[in-house]
Amino acid sequence: MIDEAYERDSDDQERLYIGASGIGNACPAAISFGFRGFPETPPKPRTKRIFRDGRRIEWDVIKDLKKAKVNVLEVDPLTGKQWEHRTCGHIIGHADGLIEGAKGSLSLLEIKSMNDARWKKCIKEGVKFSDRHYYDQVQLMMGMASLEDCHFLFYNKNTSDYGHEVIPFSEFDYAALLVKAEAIMRGDVQRIAETEDDWRCRGCFRFDACWCDELPKRKTMRSCANSVAEHDGSWSCANGCTNECKDWEPWRPKNRS
Ligand code: SF4
Repeated sequence: MIDEAYERDSDDQERLYIGASGIGNACPAAISFGFRGFPETPPKPRTKRIFRDGRRIEWDVIKDLKKAKVNVLEVDPLTGKQWEHRTCGHIIGHADGLIEGAKGSLSLLEIKSMNDARWKKCIKEGVKFSDRHYYDQVQLMMGMASLEDCHFLFYNKNTSDYGHEVIPFSEFDYAALLVKAEAIMRGDVQRIAETEDDWRCRGCFRFDACWCDELPKRKTMRSCANSVAEHDGSWSCANGCTNECKDWEPWRPKNRS
């Protein structure tokens, strides 16, 4: 009954931008389907609860940091909301918070919760090698926010141990992520897999859009193969459409060659 209740929950909130938390997805087609408004294959109830628990742990970690007298700035005082940074018109990132150092310096704060095996791997190898998508997320965030380092705090869900790593900003990695995002904005991306039975497609939230031709609810410029995303936040069409699509055809990623 609980699973059924979770299945009834619908998350209609479309995230129609290239998010920092998603940029590290190894499949650029998966990022593109989300950005272009194609439907998501609904997560299983268990997965929804894992996401919920992750959010709850994040709040608890913030409380722990405050208990330890770390100066955490959870929200942007100008907006009263989560810190938000943007670039190239369509790339947006939200930070878990900023940490203010003794001399007033600011660092990015990123909080993750992990199971024991993953946590140990992260301790042993470092975030860059154990969890590349998290590393990419914080590099993109630091680049957009002009920050020099990130306090990456990872919480062990089995033992309640903390892990901590200071990740320095890399101009090189940031530039590479912008190149990836630009290709997504142009719609010029390949699937990571050649066939739908590839292990990397298992559990992908865009599987139905990718391999079963599930289409968006609305025929908009964003989801049309003829349009590209511009740096001013708009969309432009190769056939000259402006608000309404006259020759709509669904965007598709290129097949892997
Ligand atoms: S189903 Fe596979 S190829 Fe398609 S978007 Fe997802 S990961 Fe990429």
